[in-house]
Amino acid sequence: MPRIPKHIIEEIRLRTDLVAVVERHVKLKQRGTSHVGLCPFHQEKSPSFNVVPHKHLYYCFGCQAGGDCFRFLMEIEGLTFGEAVRELAEQAGIPVEERELSPAERARIQQRTSLYDVLDKASRFWEQILMTRPEGAAARAYLHGRGIDEDTARAWRLGFAPDLWTATIDRLQREHLDADLLLAAGIARRSQKTGNLYDAFRGRITVPITDERGRIIAFGARLLEGDGPKYINSTDGDLYQKSKVLFGMHHARQAIQRTGRALVVEGYFDVISLHQAGFAETIATCGTALTADHLESLRRLTGSVITLFDSDAAGARAAEKTLPMFYGAGIDPWRLELPDAKDPDELIQSEGPDAMRAALERPVPLLDWVVDRRMAAAGGSSASESLIREIVPLLAMTEGTDLVTRAAARLRVHVPVLRARVEEARRQGPATAPRPTPTGAPPDDENTTAAARWRPSRDQVHVLWLMIHRLTEVADLATRLELPEWPELDVARPVARALLDGEPVASILDRCEEPGLRHTLSVITARTTLYTPAQAERGLAHLAHRFLLARVDRQLGILSDRVQRAVAQNAWDVQRESTRAQLDLRHMRNDLERTFKAGDTLQWATDASGLIAALDEPTHDDGLSPALTKG
Ligand code: ZN
Repeated sequence: MPRIPKHIIEEIRLRTDLVAVVERHVKLKQRGTSHVGLCPFHQEKSPSFNVVPHKHLYYCFGCQAGGDCFRFLMEIEGLTFGEAVRELAEQAGIPVEERELSPAERARIQQRTSLYDVLDKASRFWEQILMTRPEGAAARAYLHGRGIDEDTARAWRLGFAPDLWTATIDRLQREHLDADLLLAAGIARRSQKTGNLYDAFRGRITVPITDERGRIIAFGARLLEGDGPKYINSTDGDLYQKSKVLFGMHHARQAIQRTGRALVVEGYFDVISLHQAGFAETIATCGTALTADHLESLRRLTGSVITLFDSDAAGARAAEKTLPMFYGAGIDPWRLELPDAKDPDELIQSEGPDAMRAALERPVPLLDWVVDRRMAAAGGSSASESLIREIVPLLAMTEGTDLVTRAAARLRVHVPVLRARVEEARRQGPATAPRPTPTGAPPDDENTTAAARWRPSRDQVHVLWLMIHRLTEVADLATRLELPEWPELDVARPVARALLDGEPVASILDRCEEPGLRHTLSVITARTTLYTPAQAERGLAHLAHRFLLARVDRQLGILSDRVQRAVAQNAWDVQRESTRAQLDLRHMRNDLERTFKAGDTLQWATDASGLIAALDEPTHDDGLSPALTKG
């Protein structure tokens, strides 16, 4: 539930230049009244992402992502609705007064804000020790030895947590941060034995893990000397889930978009060194394998991911497991092996960034690498049936024939044989979740299967399109014809009324709870050129014709009933009058049919507005008893 009043939200939406907001992430080209570009939410080669500035909406015909400026920021920058509203309000210079929060809401927001604050203050303390204090000397020497310069250390906010039990807690408690908060933020731990708090990070170089906006949400920490695990990480909590966060994403986002690739490495310091050496498209997981959530956030930025992982058996098995996830996300996975099996840090230190650049020119498709490894393990003759059976479903998830041809050569099977099996597998459908397709459900329609969603009829599409794109032309006529009352509009009727009342589509979409209808509205809004003006007029004429005929026929039915009752009750005046009205209506009906065939329905409807109004005259007050009594 938005906590900011609706009219303020609308004002912000109205004053926000959606094209400018989108262009921070997507290159757009003007086409007619809309702007188009490559969708940031799915991988594509030809643009299907549309921004319709005068409707304040965007929509992708490829993956069905769509919404307004707030939705866009939420999706692409991972903001909450409130954050997106506040950010755009600030840009538009609109003050935001929030309505009263419920105590639970206030507590939740307060808690998150406090957690960010604690983590930031802890980091500041450790940064200061690393940069300026004697206790930081050994850590400074270590970073120097790894070739990390001071600017880089500052940019990544590296720090040093002193090797003392309560240095950090003492410092933060002096700033009046309470113990529960320090525990919740993972800065402090509680001793089982004594019940006392102690510092979670001691004698370690601290590496802040940030969200995509650069706010610290967790820490990784490397042991400097002595005993203990080399790396420890914050545990998952309110702000941080390691299966979703990619280390370095905040620094890497723009470079990933610019270079069209992401380089995924294993460690925090590899990421930092590679950025320093000019490979700012580098990121890492936070000590986990790549997950579908990781790939989902990469998918929005690039269709090409190069992995640089250990070649040991465990690393190789992990790499194999990621293959279907990559294909499922529509990302081409590559594998990079560095000369002499060095890690990237070593390579850059010993041979310089050019050696790394050269290596990056020669990544191997991950699938090729997997197949080669398996073939080598099997002794190198032609592939066993069981290996082919494993590879075929993977190939079936990919597009194009290149990988199939190469896999055939590696597996030493005939290309047509492998291709036939891959095509067979494709026909049987994907083994795992497929990438989004134009017919799939949009991502925000969770819990709603495509079949269960409301789908519009052609007429409904027609009416809604006209009301969205030709409102000034249809408004008068639609009101006169009472199009919004048209029963066939079904669940779209409230929307039609709101559109005629002049409510912006973006605002209607905001409160529309029926996913199928919301989807229909998004598509129709983005299809600015669905109909030419002539087609639109013909379509409207067609609707007007059918609508008017139905009303005339209903009226004729009432009159014929009245004539029968009048005859039965000897009410000859009523009978005469009703018969005359019947005749007039039959003329009107013929007229309608003739003008429709001649294509003049709209003109006729305009001229005949008096007649149409007469159709609405009350019919019950005819001075007769209500109905014929039977028998
Ligand atoms: Zn898309």
